[in-house]
Amino acid sequence: MALKTGREYQQSIEKLALEAHVMGRTETQLGDHGLVQPSRAAVAVTYDGAHAEDAATRALFRVHSPLCKEEVNRFTHLHRSTDDLVKKVTMQRYCGHTTGCCFQRCVGMDAANAVYSTTFDCDAACGTDYHARFNAYWTMIQKDDLVVDGAMTDPKGDRGKRPKDQKDPDLFLRVVDRKPEGVVVCGAKLHQTGMLNAHEVLVMPTMGMREGEADWAICFAVPTNTPGIRYIYGRQTSDTRKLETPSLDMGNPRYGGQEVMTVFDHVFVPHERIFLNGELPYSGRLVERFAAYHRQSYGGCKVGVGDVLIGATALIARMNGVAQASHIKDKLVEMIHLNETLFACGIACSAMGHATAAGNFEIDMLLANVCKLNVTRFPYELARLATDIAGGLLGTMPSAHDLEDPVTGPYIKKYLAAAEGADPVDRIKVLRLIENLVAGSGAVAYLIESMHGAGPPMAQRIMIGRQGGLEEKMARVRTLLKIP
Ligand code: SF4
Ligand code: FE
Repeated sequence: MALKTGREYQQSIEKLALEAHVMGRTETQLGDHGLVQPSRAAVAVTYDGAHAEDAATRALFRVHSPLCKEEVNRFTHLHRSTDDLVKKVTMQRYCGHTTGCCFQRCVGMDAANAVYSTTFDCDAACGTDYHARFNAYWTMIQKDDLVVDGAMTDPKGDRGKRPKDQKDPDLFLRVVDRKPEGVVVCGAKLHQTGMLNAHEVLVMPTMGMREGEADWAICFAVPTNTPGIRYIYGRQTSDTRKLETPSLDMGNPRYGGQEVMTVFDHVFVPHERIFLNGELPYSGRLVERFAAYHRQSYGGCKVGVGDVLIGATALIARMNGVAQASHIKDKLVEMIHLNETLFACGIACSAMGHATAAGNFEIDMLLANVCKLNVTRFPYELARLATDIAGGLLGTMPSAHDLEDPVTGPYIKKYLAAAEGADPVDRIKVLRLIENLVAGSGAVAYLIESMHGAGPPMAQRIMIGRQGGLEEKMARVRTLLKIP
């Protein structure tokens, strides 16, 4: 049953009866929980896009899959062309500016494309049969239109030590037992985006493994309600505002992100769900490919959220009565310039993509890394400019409770009035949205994740250094100057 609606998605995830530890309590009704519900609503947008009223939007989300031979949601697609890669980024921008937050579903799509090509390469070199297994698994994902969490980031313990040299070897997720029907794993994955909104988790190694580290070179998938998996909900800045009534202080009244510490305590994985098991060189290749796809993703999603921040900033300038000031106009132009530069990078690495040996399409690695390195900087500058234009009220506004209070409410409305025609409560709404993105719960994805998601800036610098073609550039100069 391909192409679920958002509502059907929500029903399907409820059926998994996931349980999580949220702020000291064990929660079972996650769909109704104030901290979780906005994040589920954001994922639902990735489903509703496939049923959008306008045909152009539907065309972004719907694509024919040669794998399952049906029309599928692009979030489950294995890219077949550079046009697919471009559409992926465009779809992510759409989801970003519709939700104004992280909509969580990209990680599984990026993991799948990396696992698809890496299992093909591994089988060709090692005689394994992971690719066929993965194809069977992913056919099911496409047909059922599921959310898959791609899980890569291990806790890593002492950063100066290899996995096998850690005092606690579980600090990198590993195989602890091998049985005739499969393996047993222990470890954890941190910062898992949308984990409790996913039907399945696709686990990958966190880095390239070396000799003696075969137990850590493991890639597999299990349903999220598999026994032995424990979820500990991550806090976001000002997150308890999501639990407040009235909801005005939330900033983003409808949507939000989700990050979860996920513990694997002796989780059994059957053979047919294992896609890498000790083939050391392919662990590094998988990490590099996943990272590059996810670095491309940020050229779409962060740009969409940037659209929301720019729109809110322009609106507050108008409400403040300063929209015509030349320095405000110039700062807004700067914000647009930065945001569109990120989009240009996302589109460029897509348009310059190429086919892998497995047949799916991969982005241009150098340009994807340039894209993400810009993402580690530009949203911060956009946030700085938004804060500048919004004014100090951004950090000092009275609460929604005081706005409702018959004594204080009239004062707040009287003294927060600005440009004629701008309702003071609407002005507060816009300021709260900006606050959400630059300093509130939305800043987790828009700023902190822009820095560290898909690897910190140094990881991109290493890749850029490797792929920047310095030798070739020097050779060109030698030719130009006739230097032997
Ligand atoms: Fe998708 Fe962006 Fe969220 Fe990553 S941060 S899951 S790319 S929306
Ligand atoms: Fe991410």
